[in-house]
Amino acid sequence: MDATDMLARERRARLAAERMLELRDDELRATRRKLAELGRSPAPDQGLPPAERAALELRASEAQAELQVANARVLIAEQRLWQSIETIRDGFAVFDASEVMVAANGPFLAPFDGLDSVGPGITQEELWRIAASEGIVDCGGDPAAWVAGMIARVRAPVIDEVQLRLWTGRTVRLLARRGENGDVVCLALDVTASIRRVARLREARARADAANRAKSAFLANMSHEIRTPMNGVVGMAGLLADTALDEDQRLFVETIRASGEALLSLINDVLDYSKIEAERMVLHPRPFDLRDTIERVLTLMRPAVQGKPVVLALEYPADAPRLFDGDPVRVGQILTNLIGNAVKFTAEGAVTITVVCGDRVSISVADSGIGIAPDMAEHIFGEFNQVEDERNRRFEGTGLGLAITKRLVDLMGGEIGVTSALGAGATFTVRLPLPLALDEDAPAPAAPSLPATLGPLRVLAAEDNRTNRLVLSKMLAGAAVELTMVENGRLAVDAFAAAPPDLVFMDISMPEMDGKEATRRIRGIEAERGLPRTRIVALTAHAMDGDADTILAAGLDAYLTKPLRKDALAAEIDAARGGGISLPSLASPGG
Ligand code: ADP
Repeated sequence: MDATDMLARERRARLAAERMLELRDDELRATRRKLAELGRSPAPDQGLPPAERAALELRASEAQAELQVANARVLIAEQRLWQSIETIRDGFAVFDASEVMVAANGPFLAPFDGLDSVGPGITQEELWRIAASEGIVDCGGDPAAWVAGMIARVRAPVIDEVQLRLWTGRTVRLLARRGENGDVVCLALDVTASIRRVARLREARARADAANRAKSAFLANMSHEIRTPMNGVVGMAGLLADTALDEDQRLFVETIRASGEALLSLINDVLDYSKIEAERMVLHPRPFDLRDTIERVLTLMRPAVQGKPVVLALEYPADAPRLFDGDPVRVGQILTNLIGNAVKFTAEGAVTITVVCGDRVSISVADSGIGIAPDMAEHIFGEFNQVEDERNRRFEGTGLGLAITKRLVDLMGGEIGVTSALGAGATFTVRLPLPLALDEDAPAPAAPSLPATLGPLRVLAAEDNRTNRLVLSKMLAGAAVELTMVENGRLAVDAFAAAPPDLVFMDISMPEMDGKEATRRIRGIEAERGLPRTRIVALTAHAMDGDADTILAAGLDAYLTKPLRKDALAAEIDAARGGGISLPSLASPGG
């Protein structure tokens, strides 16, 4: 039973006793009146008959006795009330309508440390003035204003609760209610323990969050480190597949390559997820062409639908805007996950992407595949969550794709949902708050090619990892280029200064001088000597250092992510040779 209940109960007892007292009082008064009237009558024997008079006198003395009992009960009730109030650890005080203290228990008066003037009879104003001037309450530097605030508070129609810090180091919450007769009842609850508990919980939570972030950062770094040797495995297996092999050897090599690719894609997912968890995923908004981004994802998906009777369709209204401010790499990643799933889980029919531009950009991906049971619709957005049924588990996957997608959509301030029925296809819809990009912010025109050069193209490549150097040189082996390989940024700058090449491939994280600094210096040499701008393509190990903005800001023209692909390198070579515009990489500037 809390203090309020106890008070209510005692109050009811007191009121009942008081009512009885009033009743008996009335009766007694009536009897006395009657006796007095009788006393005034001319002759006693002319008045009431003696029997009646005796009965009346008996009733009067009974009433007197009952009155005494009632009085005693009132006293007991009042005593009990105050004893109870004294036993509670919280402070309790009653003030009358003119703000004078009627009563207060020990805990209420305790902080005043026995000051004689503080007790019943003191006014609220005097009480708070003493609290401020004696330093009993921390009034935040302006005692006069604090006292005025406390008085204004108690005079307001509804008395707000207030928290006070006492000189004892404890904190009390002061609650007050005004009764019907204008009395104000105050309860001072000691909340020190709960405040300390909340602070401790907050601290523990902060520590747990920090530990979680550290774990995610560790995971992100590990995944990043694993990528480097994996690039070697996948790259070399790819090169090996291009050599003369017998049937068995080809099967083995293809298996190594496919497993390596699957492992890399898992590592990419874990890396992305850990980055988001570690709060290291940063969006890099810039003007981009949404339709282009979607089409590029569809192009990447075409091999996956080859051999399946599945149509890939895009419904993008001709009059809808195309240029938006957003992070094209991450929008592309969301679409790759959704369209990738749609294609994966659809054996026949269609995968249709529909774009509607309202106050948000809505992109839905509808498929005619196996569908999702309604009770699984929430589940699949959780990390490593998949639908565990017969039809589903024929498909590979990690269960991280939608978890990452949801986190990215959240990061962009958007929302994602799915409508589906088992066996009847699924429609995933993302709504993103992408502002329209102004025309002048439009992506710069293209991934100009250099004038056709005579003889082999001169390519400078800077890469510190030996395996990656081997992969790169093998991949470029058949491309009729004159390749200069260096191991760090400083050597790249030296090589450039000695003989400016036609094209540069630049690793980003390298010892001694990284790729960004080397590029800045190369741009400086070009400016100094009045040389035409040489195309410099970054080679990055995924998004850790593939931070688009900083790479492009350093003066690089585009970037390719590892594992390097022969066709992407060939496209760059072709473009630099003047043989045409290179295929844009997914992450190239302007989409
Ligand atoms: P993954 O596809 O790698 O398993 P996701 O997080 O992308 O991981 O998807 C989680 C699960 O959601 C999938 O395993 C599948 O069970 C279900 N799912 C996602 N997209 C679809 C879809 N278009 N049709 C049917 N099921 C889907």
